[in-house]
Amino acid sequence: MILLLDQDNVLADFETGFPTAWIARFPGIPPAAEADRRSFQVRDDYPSHLRCEVDAIISSPGFYRNLPVMQGAAEAVVELLQKGIDVFICTSPLSQYQNCVLEKYEWVEEHLGTEFTKRVILTRDKALVRGDILVDDKPEIRGLAAPQWRHVLYDQPYNRRCPGPRMTWSNWREALVSQGLLLHETIRG
Ligand SMILES: [Mg+2]
Repeated sequence: MILLLDQDNVLADFETGFPTAWIARFPGIPPAAEADRRSFQVRDDYPSHLRCEVDAIISSPGFYRNLPVMQGAAEAVVELLQKGIDVFICTSPLSQYQNCVLEKYEWVEEHLGTEFTKRVILTRDKALVRGDILVDDKPEIRGLAAPQWRHVLYDQPYNRRCPGPRMTWSNWREALVSQGLLLHETIRG
């Protein structure tokens, strides 16, 4: 079984890291509150005159490297590998890739270990990647081909209106059993 995990807002906590970076850069302008996060692209939840500032933050050196790890994510990845699941990270870098690509690898090395950097797949078209399940916070994922994986949404405030299966690192075992990725007997406890 191949499990593809998106990186940002599935493993790396962009939703915490972005407001932190915003406050450091613009202490006088409050960041968008969690309750006001309606869009997958964070820039769309800021007024048009601030969107270039959003882009400046996420493309700046250190932003991706310093994102915190999502609570429970690293432990879950270790457990999934122990259960024999082939886990890969499937992530789309920014078009402004200069810092993002390197720092995504550095982030994986720090939080999941050097060996796991061999399991990083960088692509702008996830539909071309083979797998059984893709866990991703993006509401709709399209590409050049019909995807072979099933999309399980990682629950985030901006995707709550979207239909389909979803999970968090609090309920991932049950969610992946219901999707047939894990056998019920393999759930701990
Ligand atoms: Mg994401």
